[in-house]
Amino acid sequence: MKTPLDRVSLSRRDFIGRISLGAAAVSLSSRLRAADAVAPKKLGIALAGLGSYARGQLLPALKNHTQHCRLAGVVTGSKEKGLQWSKDHGFPEKNIYSYDTMQQMADNPEIDIVYVATPNALHAQHSIAAAKAGKHVICEKPMAISVVECDAMIAACRAANVKLSIGYRLHFDPFHQELKRHAREKDFGPFMKITGANGFNMQRKVWRADHKLSGGGPLMDMGVYCLHEACLATDGATPVAVTAREHPKTRPEIFADVEEGLDWTMEFANGAKAEFMSSYSRNDGWFRAEAEKDFMAFSPAFSYNGLKVTTSQGPLNLTPVPSQQAIQMDDFAQCVRDNRQTIVPGELGRRDMLVVEAIYKAIRTGQRTVVAA
Ligand code: NAD
Repeated sequence: MKTPLDRVSLSRRDFIGRISLGAAAVSLSSRLRAADAVAPKKLGIALAGLGSYARGQLLPALKNHTQHCRLAGVVTGSKEKGLQWSKDHGFPEKNIYSYDTMQQMADNPEIDIVYVATPNALHAQHSIAAAKAGKHVICEKPMAISVVECDAMIAACRAANVKLSIGYRLHFDPFHQELKRHAREKDFGPFMKITGANGFNMQRKVWRADHKLSGGGPLMDMGVYCLHEACLATDGATPVAVTAREHPKTRPEIFADVEEGLDWTMEFANGAKAEFMSSYSRNDGWFRAEAEKDFMAFSPAFSYNGLKVTTSQGPLNLTPVPSQQAIQMDDFAQCVRDNRQTIVPGELGRRDMLVVEAIYKAIRTGQRTVVAA
């Protein structure tokens, strides 16, 4: 079929039509060129702490899945490891930093975001150093080992005018987003009874069982998922009070200075109650939220993939995402680029730390403990 542009002789109308088609084509092609020219660059992430989470989850996410950010550098205590990463993953040697040289990142425009994945007790120090270098921060959970540290991190990021986010990857998982939606829209009614457990069997003493690096045992590590998820199931509420009991130590040689396991409860202002268990001596990972008649049950609940969810209305058939971490990092990169607030800000990490502190106090005192405001 011929278009007006194919005609040999042109009427005035054809001529105008041709001009405007031509103009549209020019404008479309210049828009495409402009889009090319201004295609936003991927933001550069430096991973701080090249341990199992960085290596096993964050690196593959950045290499294979992210669209808005890329691996641009590392912060590591080992120069050799840094050189190997630079060679293997294609960033320049100048983008290797040590924990003591993080302030020099201020002069490096290739790094926009520092992702802190070091032991818990170092999160505050490393996040604050990144903020002081003018870099946006993603910090792994638990945010820190005390509310005081969380406050210092939030203040440092505010003072430096950078964003702070916590690695709560499950907010970016479709199954957990469905829990969040139910909690918000209450199509099952409010979830009033929440239960779950999360743990693994630790075979030998590592920093996670060393109080000065971890700040506590499984509560700080696996338990945080349960308590965070309970707050999510109650539509973002903070519990008002907790009770807690430490498990007897069966392997004191490993768990001399942190709990080996614990049970705890959380009460919410609307009357909802949560009961959880977390342990370094048992493999577990399930979560259940019950409304008056309906429920959602997750098992496995907290893994990187392979989540399974049943509800009172049948199984939840959602397409799993290839990488929760990639979506989480991409979302943060877009928050930075568009100057919008992340859905997992430092304030959420601080809220969880308030609950953690109340739970440890309840263990020490044996009393029901009010969560500080
Ligand atoms: P890991 O032990 O495998 O790695 C820790 C890294 O920190 C290592 O590279 C180590 O060299 C470095 N490090 C720096 N200073 C150190 C010091 N003084 N002592 C010991 N190590 C030091 O631990 P991981 O499993 O990668 O956990 C790191 C952080 O990530 C923790 O806060 C953990 O809670 C969090 N994490 C989160 C998830 C998640 O799903 N969001 C999963 C695993 C770990």
